[in-house]
Amino acid sequence: MAETNEYDYVIVGGGTAGSVIASRLTENPDVTVAVIEGGPSDIDRDDVLTLRRWLGLLGGELDYGYTTTEQPRGNSHILHSRAKVLGGCSSHNTLISFKPLPSDWDEWEEAGATGWNAEAMDPYYGKLRNNVVRVAKKDQNQIATDWVEAARTALGVPEVVGFNDKPFDEGVGFFDLAYHPENNKRSSASVAYLHPHMEAGDRPNLHLFLETWATKLELDGKTARGVHIRTKDGAEKLLTARREVLVCAGAVDTPRLLMLSGIGPKKDLEALGIPVVHDLPGVGENLIDHPESVIVWETNGPIPGNSAMDSDAGLFVKRDPDHKGPDLMFHFYQIPFTDNPERLGYERPEHGVSMTPNIPKSRARGRLYLTSADPEVKPALDFKYFEDEGDYDGQTLVDGIKLARKVAQAEPFKKWLKREVFPGPEVTDDAEISELVRKAAHTVYHPAGTCRMGASGDELAVVDPELKIRGLEGIRIADASVFPTMPAVNPMIGVLMVGEKCAEILGGDGR
Ligand SMILES: Cc1cc2nc3c(=O)[nH]c(=O)nc-3n(C[C@H](O)[C@H](O)[C@H](O)COP(=O)(O)OP(=O)(O)OC[C@H]3O[C@@H](n4cnc5c(N)ncnc54)[C@H](O)[C@@H]3O)c2cc1C
Repeated sequence: MAETNEYDYVIVGGGTAGSVIASRLTENPDVTVAVIEGGPSDIDRDDVLTLRRWLGLLGGELDYGYTTTEQPRGNSHILHSRAKVLGGCSSHNTLISFKPLPSDWDEWEEAGATGWNAEAMDPYYGKLRNNVVRVAKKDQNQIATDWVEAARTALGVPEVVGFNDKPFDEGVGFFDLAYHPENNKRSSASVAYLHPHMEAGDRPNLHLFLETWATKLELDGKTARGVHIRTKDGAEKLLTARREVLVCAGAVDTPRLLMLSGIGPKKDLEALGIPVVHDLPGVGENLIDHPESVIVWETNGPIPGNSAMDSDAGLFVKRDPDHKGPDLMFHFYQIPFTDNPERLGYERPEHGVSMTPNIPKSRARGRLYLTSADPEVKPALDFKYFEDEGDYDGQTLVDGIKLARKVAQAEPFKKWLKREVFPGPEVTDDAEISELVRKAAHTVYHPAGTCRMGASGDELAVVDPELKIRGLEGIRIADASVFPTMPAVNPMIGVLMVGEKCAEILGGDGR
């Protein structure tokens, strides 16, 4: 049979959201779907499927590895890992699973995303196929257990057993993870949504183009018709979409592909010599993230070896009583997380642990833009870390270090610790702490918002509440780029829920 290049839906990106949508649409055997995925399959890849091996994937062959522009008040050396493999970032992340808090969704509705409030979004959590469970008892490391107890007593926050059971403002406890505790296997978007069908071969209507790059969107006037691709062996083809093109390439590559296809801020595209197809000033704007920094301790000896993925517990606090939801979060790492301190001359202790304070509602608003019409040139990511007026972000990290030090003074955690390695006990002045922790700042790897959803009259919105690109026909976006604002919690479950909602907007199973 001759190869067909026409499908009902063409999806760019078999990542977190893309896997959900591809799986849902092909529940209907009459609907054909092509998925264009830049990376290889993750089936039989132990390095990918074993959750605890996640750190080994960062910076490797399955990482697009984006850098940032110079960050005058932050760290200019952050490598923004983005996964190049089926399942996208859900295949190399830590799979910490938080249903976004009601205040997170309600904030979206207030930002013009009609129909995306907490009550409307709640059912999509129930639809998720991922195996979301609390860190199993056998994976609850003793030092993490003692840290939970110390944080509870030192800061007066409740211990949370089941972060997804009910909304919270404060609390400390072991995370829920999307994993299979019996073998530490990921329950990523690809594992949960695509593998069952790839393995059973029961979805002949699902066509995966792996190790294939979407180079450009094909538009006929203001209507999307398909996607130009380059396959692994260099062949160039056009995949046409009878119904719609769905762009799910993530917060970096979705705006990049749009702009390379002539959809974006007119002035910027013209300056690079890219023919403008559709002037959309919001593409690449509103680059948001969860910035974090770190405090590292050397421990008196080795840490017990059991763990799900070496960062199994976390802490939320609310400093400002008027804030909706938590306003400071910490991951607890059962490893000395010294990548950035080492660059500043600090030594990595043989045995150690870390707390990473992060900013749930960072006030920095950055921007992603192209610097060249050459599709091979990576886009520029200017997060504008710590450039917010009033220095809310910087102060949040300083507060985080001080709270972490209180936890370190409390038993039963204190007995494990030999000394503070970074920033170091001699650094006590707010300004000094701020300077150091901003230089050693990192990302929780949550870039989002670069094609944000908004009301139809909102000039800087890129998609409307039905995820349609404003002013175009036959094309939607569904991934982290549509987030109008950042959830206070880790965003992956929110992205999966965007995928579920997109599939439902398209008619559930594409019928
Ligand atoms: C190291 C790390 C740890 C994280 N830990 C957590 C966590 O524990 N919990 C949490 O909630 N969140 C976590 N996150 C964030 C979370 O994983 C992401 O926000 C989410 O997975 C993004 O989903 P997405 O669908 O927007 O994009 P992705 O999952 O990145 O999917 C995009 C897909 O598109 C493909 N693609 C891109 N461009 C093209 C193109 N032109 N042609 C073909 N294919 C293309 C990519 O290969 C990729 O597969 C982490 C992220 C990282 C990087």
